[in-house]
Amino acid sequence: MEPIRLELPTGWAMGPVNAYLFTQPEIILVDAGLKTADCWTALVDGLAAQGVAVGDIARVVITHPHVDHYGLAGRIVAESDATVWIFEAGAPWLSATGGMWAARHAYYRDTFLPRLGLPPATAEMTLAGLRGLASLADPVPDERVVTFHPGGRLQMGGQAWDIHHAPGHAGTQTIFHQPETRRLLSADMLLAVTPTPVIEHPPPGQSRRSPSLPLFLDSLDRVEALDVAMVYPGHGRPFGDPRRVINRQRERIRSRKAECLALIRAGRTTVPDLLDGMYAHQPPESRLAGLWMLVGYLDLLLSEGLIEEGMIEGVY
Ligand SMILES: [Zn+2]
Repeated sequence: MEPIRLELPTGWAMGPVNAYLFTQPEIILVDAGLKTADCWTALVDGLAAQGVAVGDIARVVITHPHVDHYGLAGRIVAESDATVWIFEAGAPWLSATGGMWAARHAYYRDTFLPRLGLPPATAEMTLAGLRGLASLADPVPDERVVTFHPGGRLQMGGQAWDIHHAPGHAGTQTIFHQPETRRLLSADMLLAVTPTPVIEHPPPGQSRRSPSLPLFLDSLDRVEALDVAMVYPGHGRPFGDPRRVINRQRERIRSRKAECLALIRAGRTTVPDLLDGMYAHQPPESRLAGLWMLVGYLDLLLSEGLIEEGMIEGVY
């Protein structure tokens, strides 16, 4: 069966987030919205329109552990017998979400933000933004979490969906491809708009974070190789012709990267300066997304050898 899209409000500038419902042969929900009253109401109403109650859900499958995709999973399992399925590498965000958010916050506060040389008010606004995000998800008890791996398959809607790892927007993001029907549940890997490469803290024992925009572009190449007729994205309406969207993303990233390089060559060699140059049009509450994109462009320029690390005041 075709996945049924449930649109859930986020209250964010980017608009609503999608969850997808399969009603046959068992009730499966792919992604689970934010932990807000509005989102919960929309989820309950959206399920009811399909003749489904929260207590009927057998499985929740999480594409990636961002709060707009897993925030309500804890409440769903509290009100049903559902298990929550996620790529093993992302599972700590469900079972130990408080600790993961604390680690993310500490990395930004102690390592990432100080190196960028942002004004204290901007840095504090960024940290407050992270604390706000952390409050929008409930943990899922360990015994209700089931892990899966890229290369495996998930049975949903009476068909087998191949699990692919698609890092970039999130290091542990997975997308699901159904080869016979040529459908792709693309999470936030493939959206009509360019997904932001979220800056993540390095895994325990590592000191460097992974460069997320280069990873995103690699993932885009792998998505392009899949045979897909219809894309079911994490945000926005389903769409066909994924290559058109993929090429638009590449072109957008290429031209913004070129703008960034031109600014650097013109003497803007600090992150605050570049942020002003590239994101002056953005309201302050969207600056975190702008910062993620900018650091992504810098990662890309570094990886392509077009700039050297010493040219920009510390990004790692
Ligand atoms: Zn999202």
